[in-house]
Amino acid sequence: MALMTGQQYRDSIRDMKINVYCFGKKIENQLEHPITGPAIEAVALSYDLANDPDYQDKITTTSHITGEHINYFTHLYQNAGDFVKRLDLMRDLMRHHGMCVGARCVSGNIANGLDSITYEMDKTNNTNYHEKFRAYWTKVQREDLAVAGYITDPKGDRSKRPAEQENSDAYLRVVEEKNDGIVVRGAKVLISGASIAHEALIMPTRGMNKDEKGYAVSFAIPTNTKGLTLLHQFPSPDFRRFTPDAKGTDFGNARYGVYNACQIFFEDVFVPWDRVFMCGEYDFTAKLVGRLGPCFRCVTSACKCGHRDLLIGGSAVIAEFNGVGKAGHIRDKLSEMSHESELSYGCILGAAMKGYNSESGNFFPDGLYANVGKYQASKALWFSARMGVDISGGLVMSMHSEKDMEHPELGPLIEKYFKANPDVPTEKRMKMMRMMEYLTGIGCILVAESSQGGAPTANQQLVVNADLRKNLEEYKARVLELAGIEN
Ligand SMILES: Cc1cc2nc3c(=O)[nH]c(=O)nc-3n(C[C@H](O)[C@H](O)[C@H](O)COP(=O)(O)OP(=O)(O)OC[C@H]3O[C@@H](n4cnc5c(N)ncnc54)[C@H](O)[C@@H]3O)c2cc1C
Repeated sequence: MALMTGQQYRDSIRDMKINVYCFGKKIENQLEHPITGPAIEAVALSYDLANDPDYQDKITTTSHITGEHINYFTHLYQNAGDFVKRLDLMRDLMRHHGMCVGARCVSGNIANGLDSITYEMDKTNNTNYHEKFRAYWTKVQREDLAVAGYITDPKGDRSKRPAEQENSDAYLRVVEEKNDGIVVRGAKVLISGASIAHEALIMPTRGMNKDEKGYAVSFAIPTNTKGLTLLHQFPSPDFRRFTPDAKGTDFGNARYGVYNACQIFFEDVFVPWDRVFMCGEYDFTAKLVGRLGPCFRCVTSACKCGHRDLLIGGSAVIAEFNGVGKAGHIRDKLSEMSHESELSYGCILGAAMKGYNSESGNFFPDGLYANVGKYQASKALWFSARMGVDISGGLVMSMHSEKDMEHPELGPLIEKYFKANPDVPTEKRMKMMRMMEYLTGIGCILVAESSQGGAPTANQQLVVNADLRKNLEEYKARVLELAGIEN
């Protein structure tokens, strides 16, 4: 099959009749639902752009497996240039939709990790996981499927390992091995794009020990598989989508701006062997997590840089609309936002430059720079959001509704008292204010997501500290030598 169009993607997701709930109700048609509809539009754009002659080069490539023309989201990285193209794509796509395309994004990184780890598992254990994984991923590429990446488990008591948990299902596990497949039980949580993806690609969230073999499991299933229940998140910024008569201006990013993330419950779900890519190989779990972690940290940082590009643009526009576009402190703030952002982008480009190829040929970015880049990406986004609020003024958190603007008595009052720059109609200023509400994280979760999505900061500090511990003795020795002090 050739590259899917946005419409084919929309239709295919509707037809799958995925078992997803939101706000206590089953969603019968995700296309028409106020929460899932906009998120579907952001993913549909990634399909449409692949068919757009002006954009195609950025979002498609040739599969190194089949030689066929594929969407970049299904590509397995082969070298630094390949990886940088993905980073540039993430940043640029974000500028188009200001949203998350988790339904396609996380899985490419898992796939890159699994492609290499299955190769190494087979070499050590004489298994046939790599062949199975390649067959599966070839299907994903050929059918241009959206695949969500399921890593995070509920994890129960964080101070305890999986095998020590009171609830033995706190981490997803294999409860039965059969002749034709395995049965899994547990949950995966906070999964971006889960209900609007065709497939789910699942892997362990951490390294497992010998007594945790049952938790060392990786597989793929269609999102409408029997036994799966998806529960859509319901964060406060999305409430307005349920307000009768709220529309357009009230949403900021009206077309795309709802984050799709779900909790997914696996109630004894059957997975056929040809879709199982790890089952009990606990000694490869830490390697898998360690290998794909840096990929994902770079990719998620790249889209945060795109979000910041929008924030910088939005801050400049709202300053103009407020009548202070030329103020010196505004210019300084925009420049500081850009500085913080490019620091992060520079780090992840550095991670690509210092990356390496695994035995299977897959390319992986350097762990240290990937983690520093991710840490900085989150810092820079929170900083930029603060600057965005500062530049916008108090109205960014105190706006009236579109319905008020249409009201025969309130409308003229709003027009009279909320006009700022005489060259800018009040309606435009109100629209932009709502967009800033969205971009600064008051009206969307993306700013907060930058802290947890792709792992919280302590994970990045662990990598940086480990690297420092490794090098510190050498740095000390060098400076002592230079100072002429005998060690
Ligand atoms: C919007 C959003 C989208 C996401 N999308 C995806 C996705 O597509 N796929 C996916 O797999 N995951 C996804 N995630 C999950 C994300 O990876 C996790 O939120 C993240 O790894 C943190 O896990 P947690 O939320 O369980 O927090 P916790 O692990 O509970 O962390 C909370 C805090 O406790 C600290 N902590 C945790 N354990 C310990 C410990 N043992 N010792 C000391 N400190 C500890 C952490 O450092 C952190 O500061 C998403 C998250 C968000 C918010």
